[in-house]
Amino acid sequence: MLSDRIKRISPSATLAMTAKAAELRASGIDVINLSVGEPDFPTPENIRQAGKRAIDEGYTRYTPGGGIMDLRKAAAVKMARDNDLHYKPEEILISCGGKHSLYNACQVLLQAGDEVIIFSPYWVSFPDFVAITGAKPIFVKTDPLHQFEPVFDDLQLKITSRTKAIIINSPSNPTGGVWRDDAVLKVLEMAHHANAWVFSDECYEQLTYDRPYVSTAVLAENINRGRVLTFQSCSKTYAMTGWRIGYTAGDKDVIKAMEKLQGQSTSCPTSISQVAAIEALTGSQSEVERMRKEFKKRRDYILDRLNHVDGVSCSTPGGAFYVFPDFSSYMEKGEKITSSDDLCMYLLKNKSVVTVSGSAFGGEGHVRFSYAASDDDLRRAMDFLEEALDEI
Ligand code: PLP
Repeated sequence: MLSDRIKRISPSATLAMTAKAAELRASGIDVINLSVGEPDFPTPENIRQAGKRAIDEGYTRYTPGGGIMDLRKAAAVKMARDNDLHYKPEEILISCGGKHSLYNACQVLLQAGDEVIIFSPYWVSFPDFVAITGAKPIFVKTDPLHQFEPVFDDLQLKITSRTKAIIINSPSNPTGGVWRDDAVLKVLEMAHHANAWVFSDECYEQLTYDRPYVSTAVLAENINRGRVLTFQSCSKTYAMTGWRIGYTAGDKDVIKAMEKLQGQSTSCPTSISQVAAIEALTGSQSEVERMRKEFKKRRDYILDRLNHVDGVSCSTPGGAFYVFPDFSSYMEKGEKITSSDDLCMYLLKNKSVVTVSGSAFGGEGHVRFSYAASDDDLRRAMDFLEEALDEI
């Protein structure tokens, strides 16, 4: 009955864990949910007010498919201000979240016969975005001790004449890894030689803790900037996940094609959210910095706790709000626990701590903990983790 296309993809593992946590909570269990991929802060007040005003002022109708011009301009201003990226509004497309932006880009550029390089561990949606087009995801190893930067020998082996695109996601979900400029440059050069597109998923670009973030397209300036698509989002930066606003910047023809597709699918992003996003991108940025500092404090806390547990290894992730420790030493010796899935299930059933198994991200042996959670939840979750590891 169903098309081959839909059979090629799987449900989102992270959304499934979030749903599981909600189900347990609804049945009265006091769950600690460290599976979430969104800030636990409210959307800043100035942005909420802008959304309310948008409704009262009648921004409640269809907008142009690619987003209202004032928002495309606001995204251009934001990227120039924060990232030293200089795009014209017609090189920018507004979509219903960064996920939608990436999905659209895959739809307009990929087809059967193409291959796309994805660095593993990867965000759960990348392989599915690629597979649904008929193209093939090709996984390349990374180095957990160095911010999950590419293993370049493996990348060299996997790049072929069929490579149509390479996806970079730094800071990364699920690892929190932030690549050094050198590593990004090397990937850009290899992509250039292969005549491949580079998709730079920068949805965590404001969340780096140890050094300032440099956008991929800035580094590509003298290499292949025209072949880099930059994806950013209001979701994580402004705690706006439910508003669904993301944007793509890059080649005008690709942007136009994505706009055409969008016009025949969602028509346009939500009008109210678009007005609020103008305030997010161009209004006060003080909340962004406040949230970043808070996340950094939590990262340091959770890392310190993990690194005091025997047999757990977790190098310092430079960004996002995830840690991705390696528990394989427990799995090798254990009887009860032989995989990441087992460990996550054990934590869920016995300690009511919700996490996401590394296997969902191509990172068997690891578990993803999100620290977009209160200090108290983080402390209790780490206490329960220590108890669980003693038991198994
Ligand atoms: N890219 C990565 C790596 C993510 O983790 C997410 C969300 O979790 C997204 C893109 C998309 O976020 P949104 O669609 O809310 O902008």
